[in-house]
Amino acid sequence: MAEKKKFQAIKGTRDLLPPETELWNRVEQTAREVFGTFGFGEIRPPIFEPTELFARAVGGETDIVSKEMYTFEDRPLEVDRPRVMGDFEPYLMTVKKLSESGSIPSTTENLEKIKNFETSWEVFTKSSWTDVHSLMEAEFYAGEISLGPDVSLRPEATASVCRAYIEHGMHALPQPVKLYYMGPMFRRERPQKGRYRQFYQIGAEVLETLQPGQGGAKDIPKDATVDAEVIEMLMTFFARLGLEGVQLEINSIGHAADNCRRGYVQKLKMALEEVKEQLGPDSQRRIETNPLRVLDSKLEREQAIIAGLPKIADHLCDDCKKQFAEVKRQLGLRGVKYQENWRLVRGLDYYMRTTFEITARGLGSQNAVCGGGRYDGLVELLGGPPTKGIGFAIGEDRLILSLQEAGKGGVAQGRDVFVAWMGEKAQATAIGAAQKLRAAGFRVELPPVEQKFGKALGQADKLGARYALILGDDEIATGQWTVKTLASGEQRKVAAQDMVKFLKGEIEE
Ligand code: ATP
Ligand code: MG
Repeated sequence: MAEKKKFQAIKGTRDLLPPETELWNRVEQTAREVFGTFGFGEIRPPIFEPTELFARAVGGETDIVSKEMYTFEDRPLEVDRPRVMGDFEPYLMTVKKLSESGSIPSTTENLEKIKNFETSWEVFTKSSWTDVHSLMEAEFYAGEISLGPDVSLRPEATASVCRAYIEHGMHALPQPVKLYYMGPMFRRERPQKGRYRQFYQIGAEVLETLQPGQGGAKDIPKDATVDAEVIEMLMTFFARLGLEGVQLEINSIGHAADNCRRGYVQKLKMALEEVKEQLGPDSQRRIETNPLRVLDSKLEREQAIIAGLPKIADHLCDDCKKQFAEVKRQLGLRGVKYQENWRLVRGLDYYMRTTFEITARGLGSQNAVCGGGRYDGLVELLGGPPTKGIGFAIGEDRLILSLQEAGKGGVAQGRDVFVAWMGEKAQATAIGAAQKLRAAGFRVELPPVEQKFGKALGQADKLGARYALILGDDEIATGQWTVKTLASGEQRKVAAQDMVKFLKGEIEE
């Protein structure tokens, strides 16, 4: 007999259940409405993409790509790893064929592994199957051969949106192209409150391919306006949801040039070298790998030191300064309140100028509900035309947590009408009644077996129904149905054909 096993959701993943899912639906519905009013359309990219796409877009040195992705080999249907010795010969044939057709990676490295497998397998068979060492070698290489394209579950969606923009030639659409998405993302992180391995994001991107004559300093006012409108849309969304304690922080991280961010990073690096001994190991390492990220540090003992470091605002080039000033002016025009935070950085090369983060109440140390920024150049980095981009990603799990903390959670679904019926004839009438009421939009519970009325009313109560429709011999004979208001116990007769009208009046008043 099979062992009794209790399955549980994998660590860092969870089931979202009613009534909480009502809140999720409300949040997503509100996003669709608000984003729609700003002219955004929904994109639904796949959940997995080539690993290379994320490596390129997010950056190979980031934590996300270097250690947090769920990556696997997406092998062709024709091939499986050999399980027994009899599989080796056909495996060798298939693998050779597939690497020739390009269905499995035909990199020098992989071809070499295939060759090594072939050689050791040959040596083994020529030894009349006695050379155990060669067999072990063959086994080893059989497992080493990459059968894949390497794919990953998406850790974020901006890369996919940019990939789709290029793939579908969206540069030919009226510009800018405004897209939003929502759905699960996957990162192998240490699970804690507000941090999961499968979590949900709602995000949006504005992409605009440069037209002839476009680009350069004259675009600054327009770009700044786009940035401000994206942020305005976010704040409208949060306000519509009643999110509390919303704080918007903004910064400009300049652009990758010697007279701007690159120059600043050099100065920052020098300043960091001077205080290196006082920093923790993470920050010490980042002086070399990514000095900007030191500014992100939450370590208590580093805070005073960081406060004394050179600030990027003092090292922006004129264009970036102008752009930042215009973003702030545009936010003012829109009545959006913000705080400047010079320590707000995104450690990737293609991020530029406007960056922002939004925090909300009730989330402990994981209080960032949204991060975003401008990323002109990313589409080009992924093989598309020169294109500007700005976008954000909201952590939906955290957004929901914050709403729940503020008492804005979902409510038990309940029912409008519980149809209590007794007798065979009554069942037919009850089915018809349920059909009519559901078509009119009422939430109806129709029990599958007949119940004594006392028991039926008890169940109606437990489900939180507002009305019980009672159908017995008497009601069927007269066409006068009994309706009971469960809260008051009040009971009255209503003609069958007036039932929808009656309940509409009662429920909607
Ligand atoms: P954090 O600093 O909290 O790790 P991040 O910089 O990694 O966030 P982004 O990649 O900018 O986050 O993603 C945008 C938003 O997605 C975050 O502000 C957060 O609300 C949410 N988010 C990121 N990672 C997780 C996670 N593991 N679980 C739940 N939400 C997450
Ligand atoms: Mg993170």
